[in-house]
Order: sequence, then structure tokens, then C-alpha cells
Amino acid sequence: MNVCETQIIKRGEGGFPEIDFSNDECTFCKQCVEVCPEPVFDTTLAQPWTNVASIKDNCLTAKGVWCQSCKDACEPRAISFSMAVGQVPKPVIDIDACTGCGACVSPCPADAITLTPTE
Ligand code: SF4
Ligand code: SF4
Ligand code: SF4
Repeated sequence: MNVCETQIIKRGEGGFPEIDFSNDECTFCKQCVEVCPEPVFDTTLAQPWTNVASIKDNCLTAKGVWCQSCKDACEPRAISFSMAVGQVPKPVIDIDACTGCGACVSPCPADAITLTPTE
């Protein structure tokens, strides 16, 4: 919690650490890995973690409101917007491009983005 440069590690239920993307993202700086005295991080994996972003039904575009805040926040450009005649563009996440950084979570005015583990 103390070394996380974006302060996204919080004390969760039972005192265990949890990631909270409500204010910021994970930069994958590995500071948490460096200070952890327990063998809980597997640094041989290709990806930091298996979480990817998904969009919930309360996305503003489902109500016809124009919004693309999540796209602007996504550095890997994993969020695109599908066009359909007579409708506002809706966000689509490329899960292969998504790093699970969580940068799209806090800019969403509807709290419509969640990070969930893939297989
Ligand atoms: S890797 Fe992510 S969670 Fe860990 S200290 Fe860096 S920003 Fe925080
Ligand atoms: S979690 Fe990061 S990489 Fe994935 S869609 Fe959101 S901003 Fe883009
Ligand atoms: S920022 Fe939120 S409300 Fe706006 S398009 Fe993205 S998911 Fe939908």
C-alpha cells in the first residue's frame, strides 16, 4: 500500500490488500512486487494479471448519451466505438489488447467499467 505510486492498493476485508481503480490506474511499476516478502507474485508470467476490462449495461451510450471518456483514457487503444445508423457509438473492448491497467475505470461518469479475470 505504501509503495504503490498510484495509491490503488487498499486494505480490503479482513485486512488483505485489494486493488481499487476508482481513482487511478496500475502502471505495472512492480513496486508492490519488489517489497512483498512472500512468494505470492509469479514474475515469470507474460501478463501481470489476467484481469481485463468489461463494460456494464449502465454505459451511458446504452441510453443514447454520447460518451467516449474511456477511449481517451486507454493508452493501449483497446477501446473502440462501433458505429450503427441512428445510434450513438458504443464501446467495444479488444481483450487481447487490454492490459487490465484500469485507467478507463475512473474517467467513466457512469461507473460502468469493471475489471474481471479471464481464464
Ligand atoms: S504495479 Fe500497480 S499495484 Fe503494484 S505498485 Fe505499481 S502501480 Fe501499484
Ligand atoms: S483496462 Fe487499461 S488497457 Fe484495458 S481497456 Fe481499460 S484503459 Fe484500456
Ligand atoms: S466512459 Fe463509461 S459511460 Fe462513457 S462510453 Fe465508456 S463505459 Fe460508457
